[in-house]
Formats: sequence, C-alpha cells, structure tokens
Amino acid sequence: MKRHFQPETLMMSHGYHPEWSEGAVKCPIFQTSTFAFRTAEEGKAFFEVAYGLRERGAKEKTGLIYSRLNNPDMEILEDRLTLWDGAEACAVFDSGMSAISTALFEFLQPGDLLLYSNPLYGGTDHFIHHVLTKWGVEVRGFRPGASREELEQIIVSSGKKDRLGMIFLETPANPTNDLVDIAMCRSVADEFSQPGRQAIVAVDNTYMGPLWQHPLRHGADLVLYSATKYIGGHSDAIAGACLGSAELIARMKTLRTFFGNMIDPHTGWLLLRSLETLKLRMEKQAENAQIIARRLALHPKIAKVHYLGLLTPEHGEAYEIYRRQCTSPGAMVSFEVKGAEKEAFAFLNHLKIVKLAVSLGSTESLAQHPATMTHAGVDPVEKAAFGITDALVRLSVGVENSEDLWWDLEQALDKIPAPVTVKSPASAAIELV
Ligand SMILES: *Cc1c(COP(=O)(O)O)cnc(C)c1O
Repeated sequence: MKRHFQPETLMMSHGYHPEWSEGAVKCPIFQTSTFAFRTAEEGKAFFEVAYGLRERGAKEKTGLIYSRLNNPDMEILEDRLTLWDGAEACAVFDSGMSAISTALFEFLQPGDLLLYSNPLYGGTDHFIHHVLTKWGVEVRGFRPGASREELEQIIVSSGKKDRLGMIFLETPANPTNDLVDIAMCRSVADEFSQPGRQAIVAVDNTYMGPLWQHPLRHGADLVLYSATKYIGGHSDAIAGACLGSAELIARMKTLRTFFGNMIDPHTGWLLLRSLETLKLRMEKQAENAQIIARRLALHPKIAKVHYLGLLTPEHGEAYEIYRRQCTSPGAMVSFEVKGAEKEAFAFLNHLKIVKLAVSLGSTESLAQHPATMTHAGVDPVEKAAFGITDALVRLSVGVENSEDLWWDLEQALDKIPAPVTVKSPASAAIELV
C-alpha cells in the first residue's frame, strides 16, 4: 500500500539513505570542495550533463563534481524544501538577497518593465532602484489593494506594455501585513505576456514561511525565501531559496553556478536540522502570536495592531485575500503605540525577554522599529503612505512561554510615559504672564 506522507514526516528522511554514509542516521556535513570521479569517462559524463551538452539519460543521476555546482547537503536540502510548496524544483543560495537578486537578473533584460508591490523588503527595494535601473530595467511600484484596472493602467502608462518581464510581490508585506492578490497578478502577467515570452510572477514568501502560504498554487512561477528566517529559525545562519518549475529552477542554478552564490555545506546541514522542527516551531509561534496580538489590541497604550488574525469580513478585499491565500495569520505582529518615536523607543528599551533586533521567524521573539531600522532607507513620503509611522513597532513572536512574553510586553508598555496634556498657546501665554 502506498501512502502519501506529509512533509513534516519526510523532513527526517527524504533524499538521504544511511547506507550512503556508513549507516549514519543523519546526513553528514560534506565539507569538501571537490568530488573524485571513479574514471575519466565518468567525469566526462558528469560534465556533459552539468553543462547541458546532452540530455540526462532516464536512469542517470547527476554526478557530484564540485561544491559550487552541487553538494549532498545542498541537494538534499533542496529536495526537502520542494515538499512544503509542492514545487518541482528548488535552488538554495547563500542568502535571501542572493536568491532574489539572482531571480531578478535571470528573468529580466535591459529594456524590460518590472512591476512590484510596495512596500518591499529594504534590500530588495534597494536592488530594484539602484541596481536594476542601472541595467536599463524600468521599474514601477503599486500598493497592495490596487485594482486590476490600476495595475493595467500603471503598465500601459509606463510605455512598456509589450515588455513586462516580471511582477514581483511581497505578501503579506513587511512590516504592515498588507496583502496582494497573487491570482490577480498572474492574470495581469498573462494579459501582457508576449508570444514566446511569459511574464514571470515571483513572490517573496518569507513572511509566511513554507507552511502558511503556497504561492505556486495561486499561479506564481517562483517562490522566494530568506531561509535566514523561519526555515533556519534559530538566528544562526544566513541563506535563501527559490522554488518553481524544473525549467525555471534549472535557469536559476545555471546563473548560481557562475555567480558562485550557492549555500555552503555547513549552512546546508544546519538548515536540514532546522527543517525537522519547522512545523513545530512555526505552529507554536503562530499560537503565541494569536494570544499576544489579541491582548495588544485591547491594551490602552496601543493605537493600532496590524495582524492578519484580526481581519474580519468588514475589511472586505483584504479579508477575502487572507482567507484564500493564507492558512494561518502567522507570527508577525506590528503595532502602533500611542505617541511617536519617543514612546516606541521607551517600549523597545525596556524589553527584557524580547530581543531588540531586526530579522524574524526565529525561536526567540524579536522587536524592532521599522521607520528607523529595517525601513530607514525608504523615501519619507512613501514611508508615511505605506503606514510605516514613527509609532510602529514590528514584533516577531517566538516559541517562549506565552505568559512570560505577555509579562514582558506589558511591563515594557507600562514604561511608556503617560501622554502630557499639551497646553494651548493661549493658556501657555497666560502662564508666562
Ligand atoms: C530578510 C528578508 C530578505 C533578505 O534575506 P537575507 O537572508 O537577509 O538576505 C528578503 N525578503 C524578506 C521579506 C526578508 O524578511
């Protein structure tokens, strides 16, 4: 009887056999730069396949050559990552930015149009505005919530409607949890695709991790991750991943071979270990986030909470997208304290358990101030339009005891000075007299 096992079951075994390594239950770290060929003929055959000089035979395996091209830790990690998103193939990189910039370089050409959702991760935003434009790519942003007609209008008015190369999305958006409709973007990409060239839809799924949103099922061509976040999950490694069809991922791997930005064996091994607890960690994080977000929403020092689990049918389109695309509200909670930077800093400076640090998706809870930290580089006018205010704090909820976490958040909120009643100029003048 054949049984279809769930990814969390397969994370301890898929793609590795103990007999390959002296019976070792765990995949060892293949800390080697190069691999010995049994014969010169074998080396020749491996290169023919690796360099695409001929098709791989039906029973032929890709031979191990050199760790910039392939390495067991890298390949087993890729095989295991495909299971969560139901992807044909995966390529892992030495950082999330590495995966993202390689995808943008591979699928865009000078003269193309790139359409992207706003806000984006700061590094991606910088790469688009300061690197891609230098290579002659036209770039246009749109806000989550933009209608199909608005997207069409942006594309047409760019004067490049026959050159749409890619629509790049981040949903939910960092740090505001704004949502973008992936299927709608797929349909817009199809509308503007040219014969012989399909416009690519790429989704940075870091915020939902491989567990809570599967963009390929909604029509995306590529899913990108900063594996530094939920996938690694312990704030001890930097890595990235890209998933999609075998055809597109083969192109990513070819460019990776020449950029040389693959993951190293030790980091690959660390992520294999992380994947064994991915579901456990993420579910606990989401459970804690739900408790925390609901309490924050009722706290007198809090003005506003951005958390997917607080969306209701009254939020209309955003609620519909959430129900369609996400299977959990996740573990990222952003909130505005009453006040501005001073009040937000007072809160952050008094946290005892939660670490004041950027990054997210790890076992420990992390808090930061997007306006002056992760999103410091965003244009001030755009920053305000995106809802990244001076009062906004972003919290990544970890696996700690939820009551301990709440204790910490509450005591730090208590340290926010009570609002001073501002005197009107008239009464101030009277006082001076
Ligand atoms: C952190 C992050 C990245 C960049 O990943 P690195 O691993 O730091 O290079 C990209 N996108 C999002 C949404 C992120 O949070």
